[in-house]
Order: sequence, then structure tokens, then C-alpha cells
Amino acid sequence: MPATILVVEDEPAIQELIAAALQHAGHRVMRAFSAEEAAGLVNATLPDMALIDWMLPGMSGIQYARKLRGDERTRDLPIILLTARGEEQDKVAGLEAGADDYLTKPFSPRELAARIKAVLRRRAPQMTEDCVEVDGLRVDPATHRVSGNGRQLELGPTEFRLLHFFMTHPERVFNRTLLLDQVWGDHVFVEERTVDVHIRRLRAVLETTGHDRLIQTVRGSGYRFSALPG
Ligand code: CA
Repeated sequence: MPATILVVEDEPAIQELIAAALQHAGHRVMRAFSAEEAAGLVNATLPDMALIDWMLPGMSGIQYARKLRGDERTRDLPIILLTARGEEQDKVAGLEAGADDYLTKPFSPRELAARIKAVLRRRAPQMTEDCVEVDGLRVDPATHRVSGNGRQLELGPTEFRLLHFFMTHPERVFNRTLLLDQVWGDHVFVEERTVDVHIRRLRAVLETTGHDRLIQTVRGSGYRFSALPG
């Protein structure tokens, strides 16, 4: 599952090592030497995950993690804190700041890859290739196939991503801006009403098997995927 991963690490040699390991594993890497630099990058492109060094010049890694958690756009971004210190109280502080995991340096590329996979599986199910099925509607990310009650449905690539994202985040209301960030890979010079166009296309296909009811419009807020009555 290739992901876009933000690496915030002020030591060039370590940053290089991590970036090389991530690229080797097929991920795309965004690199920053400080939280301030990272903030600028994240503003332009929303990553799928962040690896943040604890000890950074300027804003510390833990402060930055807390800041990401406090912002609606990055609230759900999976975060792994990197640290040279292995003390239990640090680990607790890191997790309290909203980090999903904590990795003590030095770590092997293999350990890093395993942690990333585990955190993505838990926190970003849309990044995994696990099949999702709701009420007879089934999406298989590995083969890019969608079926409704066993009948094959043909979706365009954007509608496919949109449906997969919805199905891995049921019952939550997403406004157009968040959907653009999450599905279009963001900032994208795409207008918000483009979201409506793709939702319409998605519903039209799902209508053939009666699954269009799962994509609900929440007036004034956005859209929600739900098997419950809207
Ligand atoms: Ca450091």
C-alpha cells in the first residue's frame, strides 16, 4: 500500500536514511527539517502519514503532533513520533499528544516498515487493500472491482476512490473540502462543486443495484456513507 509520508527530521543523515527506506518500500516522501517547514508542505499537500522527530529546532515534534491533532484538516493524520530517548514517560507524553505510535532510534528499516503498515491499517483503512462490504455492496481495492449484490459495477477512478473512502469511514459527515483533501489528494485546483458532480456519477451507478441510498446528503454539511436511514 504505497502512501505519501511526511518525514520531519532535522538531522540530514537520519532524514536521508528514513526517506531512502520509505522510497524503497514504494512510498512517496515529503521531507522537512522543522515543524515550521513541515506545516508549509502539509498546507500544499496532505500526506497519508507523518513521521515526526521529537527533538526539532523551533517547535518540538510533540508540539507539532498536538497542533496537527487540533486542526480539522489533519485531525485524523496517522502520526509516528521518532525519538532518541526510550523512556516510558516520554512514550506516554507522545501518545497523549496524539501520536499513534512511538519509535525509538536507532531502528531498522524493517521495523519502520512494519510500524507504518500497522498504523496505516488501524488508522487509514482506505490505504489498505482489504475488501470492504456493506449491505451487499462490495469494494475490492486489490482488483479495483466493485459489485452490488454480486453484480459487477463499473466505476471511474475518482468514483472508485470516493466510494472506497466513504466505505472505510462510515457514518461520518464529510464536507466538500475534506473530501477533496482525502479523495482528490488535495489542494488540487478543483472546485468544490466537482465533488457534487462525482457524487452524482457514483450514485447513478449505485442506483442500478439500489445502493445509492448509502450515499446520503447532509444538508448544509456534506455527505455521509451510511447503511442507516438518512
Ligand atoms: Ca532531532
